Amino acid sequence: MMKRRVFVRTFLLGTGGVMVRNYNVSAAGADHDPILVKMIYNNTGNHPDFKKEWGLAMWIEDNKHAILFDTGGNPETFRKNILVAGIDLSILSSVVISHNHWDHIRGIPVVLDGITQKTNIYVPASNAPEIKSSNPFVNVVPVTDARPIDGSVWSTGEMQGTIDAANIFEQSILIVRGNLVYVFTGCAHPGIVPIVDKAKTLFPDKAIALAAGGFHLINKSAEQIQEVSDKLNEMQVQKIAPSHCTGDKAIEFFRSEWKDRFIDFNIGDDYKI
Ligand SMILES: [Zn+2]
Ligand SMILES: [Zn+2]
Repeated sequence: MMKRRVFVRTFLLGTGGVMVRNYNVSAAGADHDPILVKMIYNNTGNHPDFKKEWGLAMWIEDNKHAILFDTGGNPETFRKNILVAGIDLSILSSVVISHNHWDHIRGIPVVLDGITQKTNIYVPASNAPEIKSSNPFVNVVPVTDARPIDGSVWSTGEMQGTIDAANIFEQSILIVRGNLVYVFTGCAHPGIVPIVDKAKTLFPDKAIALAAGGFHLINKSAEQIQEVSDKLNEMQVQKIAPSHCTGDKAIEFFRSEWKDRFIDFNIGDDYKI
């Protein structure tokens, strides 16, 4: 077993992969433990036990790591859903915050109540001073460039979007597994197409298995939604699971256009990798 592991590592490094800073991208995704992604906070879908409310949070767990991506918009709802999910916050190894909007950050104090170890909270570098000042006891790690976070989870690095002519910075997460990359977004203010494109640039030898989360198409026209759909197809995204701020119109459009490649991944749902 040891010998095989050493062999695999040597083989992967020997293929001369793309380097992102000092990280060897080809070596990512060599682990094969099953990963569970649970949607513990969202405003889309229906579940008998989980409360749905505007915002987003996902719980990501494998045998060795537990990662929280965003924390929802209402601390009470977030706390309730953590209980319903039977989640033990004390096993959290990392927290990733997509961006500094209320519907993704207001559960942070609940996380702080629950953690017993010094857990890193990875935030877009541009949001770090603000998040740090409102949560002074947290180990805030500013993220600028794409980087591995924990286990199979990577950050795209902070990307710029605009909202009402103001800049907004956001990071998305990538789960890298074998030859596949799974993209999970908070609100996708930088655009779901540029985010998937960044994932493809970071991992040029891997296919995009899934794009999931908020696509922020709520105020877009039918033509603009069609254009996004076409671009995701051109980039050979295998499946999509839009929720949160994607908007009902765009979600129904994707459902009819992508057929069995459309995945319902909403409040209380599990996605297994
Ligand atoms: Zn937002
Ligand atoms: Zn949002």
